[in-house]
Amino acid sequence: MARTEEITLKEIECPVCFEYMSPPIMLCRRGHNLCHTCRKDISKCPICKEKFITKNLALEEIANKIKLLHNTIPQPSNHRSPYDLLDEQRTKIVIAEEVSRIILREVKCKVCQNYSLSPIYFCVNGHSTCNACKKCRTCAGPVTSGRNFALETIARSAEYQCRYRDFGCASILTLLQAQHEDECEYKPVMCPLFDAVGVRCSWSGISQDFKFHVMHEHVSCRVFEGTFISLNIRYSSNTVIFALNKMFLMSILVKNGAVLYRFNLEGPADDIDKYKCVNRLLSGGDVITTFVFSPSPKWKEFYGGIFMDCSSPTIMLNVCIQKT
Ligand SMILES: [Zn+2]
Ligand SMILES: [Zn+2]
Ligand SMILES: [Zn+2]
Ligand SMILES: [Zn+2]
Ligand SMILES: [Zn+2]
Ligand SMILES: [Zn+2]
Repeated sequence: MARTEEITLKEIECPVCFEYMSPPIMLCRRGHNLCHTCRKDISKCPICKEKFITKNLALEEIANKIKLLHNTIPQPSNHRSPYDLLDEQRTKIVIAEEVSRIILREVKCKVCQNYSLSPIYFCVNGHSTCNACKKCRTCAGPVTSGRNFALETIARSAEYQCRYRDFGCASILTLLQAQHEDECEYKPVMCPLFDAVGVRCSWSGISQDFKFHVMHEHVSCRVFEGTFISLNIRYSSNTVIFALNKMFLMSILVKNGAVLYRFNLEGPADDIDKYKCVNRLLSGGDVITTFVFSPSPKWKEFYGGIFMDCSSPTIMLNVCIQKT
């Protein structure tokens, strides 16, 4: 993580005098920075010859906070015991984490609250905005076509620990690996299973423990890993399916001659559109019909007369989970 600070300090260096810049940090129309001391003698950007139009507020904030951070740390003495060295080591880790936190705060888009990656634009008053929003929430001023290159480089270098570290995940992430937390194997899952009266089980934990939980607490439920599964739909059943890094629950309910099903994605509702279930109904090994449904928490009935034959001992439903 010390690399993050190194990269950040490099970006805070003035391209002309090579001193660390402190506010105000001037920003040219194209997105290059210059320290205010050099600005006194230079009227146009030495890199692109464009005018300086505003200040790089995000970079100023990062520069200020890193300086403050180092001011709060006691200088090491000349006579250090092994304990002092250990303390210094710990301090380094704390600083590295804090630097990343400072950066992440500045690269969070004020409009959509997502972390901004390249390209990052800025408004005429120097506020940064992400590419998707491209508008300024702070001052509502027009956004220029200039890119905040320094902030883009710093954003790419920021590292942080997976939010499930208390659950056992040791992964160090960058903003380019943001999907890790979605798919982290230490992310707690809620048990999706219901009892006979429709009350959801209250267990939650990491997915590895979940398999153990199902085997001991829901003995009639099947746990399956993979995208392809064959189900016998003559009986009511629950099947937990781990596929495509997600957890699904496929339930079959045979009631008064009707066959109901529920195929649900156990996870953020936004992700429902990303998956589908392609089904083939077979009788005696022959495909009778093929149909597709998407995940939903609601019970549905298998339609049409195709299930009149459900009592046939050879009827099977082959389920294949796919990305849409
Ligand atoms: Zn300078
Ligand atoms: Zn320039
Ligand atoms: Zn945004
Ligand atoms: Zn603005
Ligand atoms: Zn993780
Ligand atoms: Zn449970």
